[in-house]
Amino acid sequence: MAIRTIVKEGDSVLQTKARPVEQFDAKLAQLIDDMIETLKQSGGVGLAAPQIGILRRVFIMDIDDHIIEAVNPEIVKTSGVQRDLEGCLSCPNRWGYVTRPKYVVLRAYNRHGEQYELSLKELGARCACHENDHLDGQLFTALVEEYVRPEDLQ
Ligand code: ZN
Repeated sequence: MAIRTIVKEGDSVLQTKARPVEQFDAKLAQLIDDMIETLKQSGGVGLAAPQIGILRRVFIMDIDDHIIEAVNPEIVKTSGVQRDLEGCLSCPNRWGYVTRPKYVVLRAYNRHGEQYELSLKELGARCACHENDHLDGQLFTALVEEYVRPEDLQ
């Protein structure tokens, strides 16, 4: 496994739509393992492949100490509303309020090519939407309703 460099806001790779994964092979497993190691080292909640410069439809999340791997993901159902502070590993020191669905159903494949559906709520739902947006080249900054200064967060 290797820690990859996280691409920062302003890099065009973050504004580009990612392509579906076609091969569920050792290269994909390596990518996911590297993403997990990079996420753990960063202390973030989620990481999408474009954030390490790979334009493939893959993201991971670390929710309640459980890693969720999502390959070719889709948000197939949403309900409710939540508004909370959101940040992004690609946008250091930028925090703002974003409105998201409170509940989502995520449909995706794991690294072995097995499809699953997962119901997520609150932080998990927020994170899945945030990471899925990365795969379409959209940053959370497009959705921020109000920015909060880092010094006001404590
Ligand atoms: Zn992000």
